[in-house]
Amino acid sequence: MSNLVFNFKSKKIKKIKNPKFILGGKGANLAQMGKLGLPVPPGFTISTGVCEIFYKNNKKLNLKLIKSIKQELKQIEKECGKKFGDLENPLLVSVRSGARVSMPGMMDTILNLGLNDDTVKALAKKTSNMRFAKDSYRRFIQMYSNVVLGVESYNFEELIENYKLTKGVLLDTDLDENDWDGLIKDFKNVVKEKTKKQFPQDVYEQLFGAISAVFLSWESNRAKVYRKLNQIPSAWGTAVNVQSMVFGNMGNDCATGVVFTRNPSNGKNEIYGEYLINAQGEDVVAGTRTPNYITKKANKDSNSKGKSMEEAMPKVYVQLKKILKLLEKFYKDMQDVEFTVENSKLWMLQTRSGKRTAKSAVKIAVDMVKEKLITKKEAVLRVDPNTLDTLLHPTLDETKEVKTIAKGLPASPGATSGKVVFSSDEAERLNGMMQDTILVRVETSPEDIHGMHAAKGILTARGGMTSHAAVVARGMGRPCVSGSSEIDINYEQKIFRTSSNVEVKEGDVITIDGSTGRVILDKVPTLKPEISGDFSKLMSWADSYRKLKVRTNSETPLDTKTAREFGAEGIGLCRTEHMFFDEDRILSVREMILSKTIEDRNKALAKLLPHQKNDFIQIFEIMSGLPVTVRLLDPPLHEFLPKNDKEIGDLSSVTGLSDNEIKSRTEELHEHNPMLGHRGCRLGISFPEIYEMQCRAIFEALVECKKKKLKSTMPEIMIPLVSTEAEIKIMKDLVIRVAKKVQDENNTKISFLVGTMIELPRAAIKAKDIAKHAEFFSFGTNDLTQTTFGISRDDSGKFLNDYIENKIFDIDPFVSIDEGVGDLIEIATLKGRKQNKKIKLGICGEHGGDPKSINFCSKTGLNYVSCSPYRVPVARLAAAQAELKK
Ligand code: ADP
Ligand code: MG
Ligand code: MG
Repeated sequence: MSNLVFNFKSKKIKKIKNPKFILGGKGANLAQMGKLGLPVPPGFTISTGVCEIFYKNNKKLNLKLIKSIKQELKQIEKECGKKFGDLENPLLVSVRSGARVSMPGMMDTILNLGLNDDTVKALAKKTSNMRFAKDSYRRFIQMYSNVVLGVESYNFEELIENYKLTKGVLLDTDLDENDWDGLIKDFKNVVKEKTKKQFPQDVYEQLFGAISAVFLSWESNRAKVYRKLNQIPSAWGTAVNVQSMVFGNMGNDCATGVVFTRNPSNGKNEIYGEYLINAQGEDVVAGTRTPNYITKKANKDSNSKGKSMEEAMPKVYVQLKKILKLLEKFYKDMQDVEFTVENSKLWMLQTRSGKRTAKSAVKIAVDMVKEKLITKKEAVLRVDPNTLDTLLHPTLDETKEVKTIAKGLPASPGATSGKVVFSSDEAERLNGMMQDTILVRVETSPEDIHGMHAAKGILTARGGMTSHAAVVARGMGRPCVSGSSEIDINYEQKIFRTSSNVEVKEGDVITIDGSTGRVILDKVPTLKPEISGDFSKLMSWADSYRKLKVRTNSETPLDTKTAREFGAEGIGLCRTEHMFFDEDRILSVREMILSKTIEDRNKALAKLLPHQKNDFIQIFEIMSGLPVTVRLLDPPLHEFLPKNDKEIGDLSSVTGLSDNEIKSRTEELHEHNPMLGHRGCRLGISFPEIYEMQCRAIFEALVECKKKKLKSTMPEIMIPLVSTEAEIKIMKDLVIRVAKKVQDENNTKISFLVGTMIELPRAAIKAKDIAKHAEFFSFGTNDLTQTTFGISRDDSGKFLNDYIENKIFDIDPFVSIDEGVGDLIEIATLKGRKQNKKIKLGICGEHGGDPKSINFCSKTGLNYVSCSPYRVPVARLAAAQAELKK
């Protein structure tokens, strides 16, 4: 047991290789801060391993453990000169959870433990502060009853609110000792009524109850949801920290606060945080009182009327500032710090690396390299590629006239629009119907995680920049405006009203701008973001480390331009069928499909040729000098056919076919299982003239670009859905035949490659044969995943959650490459290279923009990944990280 409970100062901690693993993040950092000589209230950590023991022991603490906890508590009593449950100088403790990675707000903390009807009197006498003692006791009853006894907190809050109403005051701080005394009685009655037992007076019963509750909270619903969203294994368990209390609620020379060593929204190297005088624990983040800023500057920047800590407590502020500097230097990262001031003495209660927006993550990483705190490699590894997405996301089009109806805090950047909803469940429901929502709440709590995830943006009426809503939204990359005191929400009527008297109902569309804090009526157009200098710098470092090339999936000039600006090194997938849907050509496509003779078909194809050629010219121009993989027609033909009477009528007038003839031909083309039907190269085998037209368009475009003296593009002609050697051979011959013709006609030489998509298990297994004729393989992992599992991506939504819940899938295989699909890719890579050493290998499924899958591609030794334009920077960074982690 001696290895299960550790005093913060224990020498044994030094010998632990990975302290966070054993002590949890909070415990390890509390011990570390102590070691650095910082003021940390004495305490001990019950290690993460005990969590498992607890669950194995029928969710009970065993006797040995109880004994060593009591022993450690003795030690704390000694260090503090107080005694637990003592009637003269009682020791009070907090019981705090602390997993290996921080799960903000996910687990429950209990403060002021050790108070009962007797010790509260002793505390009052000892501190000569009756109000403080009573305030602490009522807080303890609230927290303990909620977390350990399961009495919902609104029971207590309602009592307080009603009491304040009768007394005619606004804030908790307006209540005096007699008020709290009365409320304590009421609280205890509530507990008695709800639990049929008295509130526990035995301090050890309190302590062991609280410790058990922390372990139990590891399996609470909100903890489970958070773990699922953040891929934290449930086997890790949580540690428990028991720490002697310090008090921020003893009067006006006391305070509690949260502070970041740098600005978490924009990354500026200035401390940024909030605090509250005469308050305790979660008051700052809970949003019950609106906190004040730590620095004068932040106060000024936001025109706040409150007094900054810098002004109100100048000495403590200077000390805090020094400590923050030291912590950052030690951890070499931006820290998120919690502190309390008790009678003008500063105490450090937590430090961890701070959550930040993508913008600030990039700035901080680059700045820290400049400050010589970290290396370039470390900087590249610091930024989570997935979060870059938010940097590339739209901002409001400022040239448009907008109707700003309220303002709040710019808690998480990005602009977004959606229908107003007032509950997380409604956000989730509408999300299921593909509708965009803005979740509007007075404040959010961990119960709202699913709604925050489902909503496009979050708006709260209360809470600061470090409130639950703000922290979680930043972590998720959701735009958020918090603490908008200008809105008044009525949950019952499902409306909110602004101070300028605008009424917004559920379902009305609003826009929030998390970068400026504006709330705007209606949908507002947004603009493509501009890429900062820090961002380019970080990307250029990333590029210098990565080996994988990054291409894009694109078929329109606009997307292609965007992708090139984002650093795409070519196109990995240009889907030609998308080019068929344009208004000016769909009729010719339909005509081509319905034609009964080759002559008719060729006539229709001839109409399409100039359009396709033009598309390719534009794309080749933008990608000049880079490779462009063009996939020949892939989807089943019936997808292009007319869907309604008007379309049928239009087609009839062009082709001369009757409506009925068109309908019957459409029926003939209908397939029971089109995904596995007449598509891909199977079309090329049946209707070679379609592929011939496409190849001609590509080659003629190339000749055209040559005439314009553009740097030449290397087209890579990709045959879809190949499963046999014969298919690729026949198709390759076709491509070469057309190329020869175009060369002869123009008297010029054309260079190109012919290859195939690997998207069928047979193709992967027989890769050696296919590689005899293919100069490149591009793994089409969307279809490869579908065909490997035999699961349709479009229908999997209905049951995928059951599969994740039952731990059959860790993660959606359409998001991150599955192991089995990965094995097929490895087999094809090995066999393909064995046959053809020079074969080019890439991936063009959705997975090409997923950092985990990119890591796999890097390990497997592919040459490139290809992803959607906005994922290109994500992929560049992920590819660099994959290389650095090798
Ligand atoms: P979380 O993991 O949600 O951040 P914490 O364990 O950090 O929860 O506790 C929340 C808050 O409770 C802390 O920020 C701090 O203000 C307060 N707190 C915790 N332990 C103590 C203590 N020993 N003395 C004073 N305040 C404490
Ligand atoms: Mg904390
Ligand atoms: Mg495919």
